[in-house]
Amino acid sequence: MTEQLHSSGLSGLSLGAIDDLRQRAARAAEHSYSPYSRFRVGAAVLLAQSEQGGSNIVTGCNVENASFRLTTCAEQSAIATAVGLYGPAIRIRAVAVANLNGAASMPCGACRQTILEFSTAETWIFYPAELGALAEASLTDLIPAAFRFEQA
Ligand SMILES: [Zn+2]
Repeated sequence: MTEQLHSSGLSGLSLGAIDDLRQRAARAAEHSYSPYSRFRVGAAVLLAQSEQGGSNIVTGCNVENASFRLTTCAEQSAIATAVGLYGPAIRIRAVAVANLNGAASMPCGACRQTILEFSTAETWIFYPAELGALAEASLTDLIPAAFRFEQA
């Protein structure tokens, strides 16, 4: 990819970090199992700094199924992997989504809710906009009135 990467800087992440995340998402999309839609999607999840230090990146791709409603999105695939690798206390600093179809695509509603489960006040999402541009938004902007489980 040679297009210029722009960012508002509001995420607090460097352009290099954002581009790395985006490239990892694109590489993950190459593993996509999408024989039905042929929409090849990858996601890269940057985990918040762990108590041991260091920040980890976990990727995933969409995995379709002949029974369409069993299809797993790339974001959910990456998050399930992250929990499997690092446990239930993970927190997500950022998610980059990419596809190999050259299409604009935001995380779907189900993925926004899934990201929210492990989010912080500074979780950012980077996703393909029109004409190969990269869009960015805070998770709060993408899912402003989210469901949260609260016991009475
Ligand atoms: Zn989704």
